[in-house]
This record gives sequence, structure tokens and C-alpha cells, in this order.
Amino acid sequence: MNYVDAVPNDEIIYREHNPTGLHVIPDFISAEEEHQFLHIFDWEDDSNLKNRQVKHYGYEFRYGSNDVDLNAPLSDKIPSVCDVLWKRLQEHGFDIEVPDQLTVNKYKPGQGIPSHVDRHSPFGDTILSLSLGSSVLMDWKHHSGKYVPIVVPARSIMVMQGDARYDWQHGIQPRAWDPVIEVRKDTETSSNIKVITSDTRPRGTRISLTFRKTRQGPCECGYKVLCDRGGNKEIDDDMASHLEELHVHQVYEQIAGHFSTTRHKPWPKVQEFIMNTPPGSIVLDLGAGNGKNILNRNDIIQIACERSTGLLAECAAHTAAVRGAQCVRLDVLRAPLVDGRADVALCIAVVHHFCSEARRKQAINTIARLLRSGGRALITVWAKDQKKSNYIAPNKENSDTNVVTTVGGLNLPVHENRTQFQHSDLLVPWKLRQINDKKLSNETNATFLRYYHVFEKGELDKLCDLPDLVIEDSFYEEGNWCVICKKL
Ligand SMILES: [Zn+2]
Repeated sequence: MNYVDAVPNDEIIYREHNPTGLHVIPDFISAEEEHQFLHIFDWEDDSNLKNRQVKHYGYEFRYGSNDVDLNAPLSDKIPSVCDVLWKRLQEHGFDIEVPDQLTVNKYKPGQGIPSHVDRHSPFGDTILSLSLGSSVLMDWKHHSGKYVPIVVPARSIMVMQGDARYDWQHGIQPRAWDPVIEVRKDTETSSNIKVITSDTRPRGTRISLTFRKTRQGPCECGYKVLCDRGGNKEIDDDMASHLEELHVHQVYEQIAGHFSTTRHKPWPKVQEFIMNTPPGSIVLDLGAGNGKNILNRNDIIQIACERSTGLLAECAAHTAAVRGAQCVRLDVLRAPLVDGRADVALCIAVVHHFCSEARRKQAINTIARLLRSGGRALITVWAKDQKKSNYIAPNKENSDTNVVTTVGGLNLPVHENRTQFQHSDLLVPWKLRQINDKKLSNETNATFLRYYHVFEKGELDKLCDLPDLVIEDSFYEEGNWCVICKKL
């Protein structure tokens, strides 16, 4: 089912220059100072958190809303040992406000952070990141498609201002090694080029200190795409893609383990659909989550496709014993699989996470493309009408009064769980299970917000109205709209 057009090059070359406003100053602190900082900011590994670990000073950074509560300052302020940094930055010619918020992250080899921009409105013009313990490769991405890998050495400080602060996203791949980057002279243009070589270097434990200055009032930057200041807008493709990154992909990476413990069996209709598949069939589960829809049948080939690496790991563990089951990481909008090979496609509770109608249509197009002639798909989405489901808690009023301003300044209502839906496009909270850990002021208490487009009656049928698809059945089941369609 999988193919590549060509074997990847050993070396990948980047001509793009570093983002404007990004400065990485190597050896910003001495080895003795690093030792001193590590003494203050490192802590014992007694947490069972899967993801990176975190401590806060000044204000608690709230994961989920990615901001701070200005009305709830912490008693622990930024330790005075850090004061030397501001002075030194001024000596280097930087104009910065003294930060009042510090988040300390501990990354063990293999841990990373999804691509993000520090939210505009809660924080000021300068974000600083001091690295201790290990170097790491940071990926910088611009919404225009530019990509730049940046090496961030131990004992360096990274200063993010201007474009780098407001218009670029940065992240760290979750892996235990990094490729070695070389800077070479391009013989033709005599400009510098960056080369990702096939050599690798292991990562050690890295402690990062992120310093921010909190902001009062909305952001006044001129960078529209990633800005979160108010005002309602239509969701265009650029915004939809950022919304999915922030409120779907990043959320599922963070909640994967907990989410998986709440999903055990396929829904009866899904089970029935796969059980009726003849032996020898190729079954694609697009957006397979933790693999709960992969049945224990060894007479069919079941391919679980999932975008979240966290869920894919759960999926691989759950399906390891099933003969013929495979797990593939992919995005349903850009599935790099051969056309017209699948006998059966499942797309269960996935299409409602795409943030624009065009992208939801594109997902259905993918399903149609991958099916062979005569192949069948079962597609389910969350219904706006929950009256005939067990979802609604009795005696619970829907308030939905809380509104969150998210990417591109878009306002979305936050849903009150277990109540009837009032809106079609909304954020649904996921409360991460609490893990007792007094030392870490922790990420584990966080509420994450997942984007949903909940479907009206007939809306999914309309979406599946493609020239080569015929709808064979369409029904409502336990709060979901479901369609079974056949490819002509
Ligand atoms: Zn802004």
C-alpha cells in the first residue's frame, strides 16, 4: 500500500536564511554557571509523565489555553540568579524588558514539543530560551512553507523577537538523536547553505528555561496569521490548518495515553461492518486512534493509519498480536497510499476534526481515491443533535458562554461537556487525568481543547456526494451520523 517516488537523499540542503529576529548566542553562560543553574532547576525523575516535565515561576503557564492567569501570580518569582542574563543581553545589544514568567522544561532523550508559536496576547515582544545540559535541533516553520533547522547548543541563549517571535512556529521532534547539521559555502552563489547530513548525534537530558514578559491587553502586532487578538473571521484554509495543528494534532499528542485508556471496543456497527468483510480483504482504518477498530481477524489485512505519534504507539501495542495488522503514520488529507487498492475503508470520528468544509470534503475525496471499484467505506461523525444518545447528562444546563480566542483571532465557544450542542464549530474540553505529583506544578491538571465541527442531519450525506461514490446506507447511531458508501 505504501510507496515513495524516490529513495530519499542522504543529505538535505536548506538555502533559507534564519528567521528574522532569531538569535542563538552560543556559550552565553560558562560551564560553572551552567552547573549552578542545573543545581537550581534540575529535579529528580520521580514522575510517571510520558511527556516532558515542567516547573513554573512568576505565573503558572496554563497548558490548554497556553496563557497565564494575571490575577494569580505564584509566590515563587524568577530566581535572582537569572538577573545576570538580562545584563549580559544588554551588553550584546539586545533591547529587552525584564521577564516576569519562567517555565522550566525537562526533556529526556526521545521527548519533544509540538510545533507552536508562543501565544501573542499573553506575552510581550521577546521570548528567551536558555538551554542547559544538551544540545538539540529545533525545527522552525513559517506558514509560507519555509523550514529551517536550527541547532540550539547547551549553554546558549535563544532570543526570539519580531518575525521569529510572532510569525514563525518552532518545535522539537520526539527522538533520541539529531542529525548533524553542517554549514557549507554554496559554490554557485557563494552564500551559506545548511546541510542535514546522514550523521547523527545522541541527545542528552536537556533543561530549557523559557523566559517571558506577561502582557496586559491584546496583542498589537502586525502579523495576522498567527495572532490571537479578537474579532470574528471566516475560517480559511491557512487558519483551518493552524487550528487543526493547535486544537487537534497537538492535543491528541498530549492526551494520547489517557485518551487511549478510555477507548476499548469498536462501536457495534463498526464491528459488524468489519466482521462482514470477506476473507482476503484489505481494510484501511483512516484515523485509527489507538487501534480499537482493528479486530482479531487474521484472514484480512488491516492497516491502521493515524497522524498522532502518541496514538500510533498505543495502536502498535494494541495490534501487535493481530496477524496482518500494520500501523502507518499519515494525515488523511495527504495520505501517501496507492489509489484504488482498499476493499474497505473506515473513517470513524475523524472528519469532524477538520476545520473547514473544503478540508472535510478533501478527507472524503481521499477515502474515495483509496477504495477500489466496488469497495465500501463506513464514515461516522459527531452529530449536533445529541437528544437520542447517552451523551446528555440529565439536569445539566448548557451554558457554552465561555469563548476562547484562538489562531488568527478566531473566537470559538467552549462546549459544556455532556450537554446539547448549541454551535456547529466549537472547542470541546478534554480534562487530562490527574497524576499525583506535588513537586511539579503540573501539566497533568490541564484541560485541553479539541476542535469539533458537529454535523447537522444530511450534512455528511452531502459531503459524500461525489461522482464515484454511492451512498448505500445513512443512519443515526448513539449521537453520530453514519454513512456507508460504495465506490463505483
Ligand atoms: Zn499578535
